[in-house]
Amino acid sequence: MQYAHFPQSNYDVVIIGAGVGGLTAASLLSKAGHSVCVLEKEPHAGGYLAGFRRHNFRFDTAIHWLNQCAQNGVVEKIFSILGSDHPKAIPQKRIRRYIGTNHNYLLTHNPDELKNEWIQEFPKEKAGIERFFKAAKKLALLLIIIAVYSEPRKVWAIGKRSKINCRL
Ligand SMILES: Cc1cc2nc3c(=O)[nH]c(=O)nc-3n(C[C@H](O)[C@H](O)[C@H](O)COP(=O)(O)OP(=O)(O)OC[C@H]3O[C@@H](n4cnc5c(N)ncnc54)[C@H](O)[C@@H]3O)c2cc1C
Repeated sequence: MQYAHFPQSNYDVVIIGAGVGGLTAASLLSKAGHSVCVLEKEPHAGGYLAGFRRHNFRFDTAIHWLNQCAQNGVVEKIFSILGSDHPKAIPQKRIRRYIGTNHNYLLTHNPDELKNEWIQEFPKEKAGIERFFKAAKKLALLLIIIAVYSEPRKVWAIGKRSKINCRL
């Protein structure tokens, strides 16, 4: 095991884990003027965000796309607190293609296209498919509310008021 050299012996905050959560918290706390020490057990930072290499191929471990990068989204809000030179996101219209031996589905920025394709292909499952997309839309709405208000107590109150019930 390797031990890093710490430039100081006391920190206002010690964060365990240099995943996107730890790094975001560390950046914001540091921007607010706190001294922050991030401890990571792996030889690289990033957690699930960091991919890996095998031969000449680079693989994603987890994160394939990020929501909330547009203006007023959570990611953009955090970036703009940290500085003005952050990357600008281009909204995606064709998001992801799922290919298997018997299927080839494209998820676009209009999820109803995929919903209708599934309903056509599996008419007996229409009710379940509609229920799934309805619940997903409610979750997405909740995320937008979180992005706009970014204050858990307010979000909870709004969620209760608007009866956002995410039962599948
Ligand atoms: C298959 C998959 C696909 C995903 N796809 C997406 C996507 O497309 N878009 C999206 O937004 N999200 C996606 N996610 C979710 C996203 O990857 C996670 O929400 C996010 O990366 C979590 O970040 P984190 O910092 O909380 O945790 P992690 O990324 O898990 O970071 C935790 C860090 O802490 C370190 N650590 C743990 N224990 C210790 C210890 N004792 N001492 C020191 N260090 C320690 C770990 O090594 C790690 O680096 C996906 C997740 C998975 C599994």
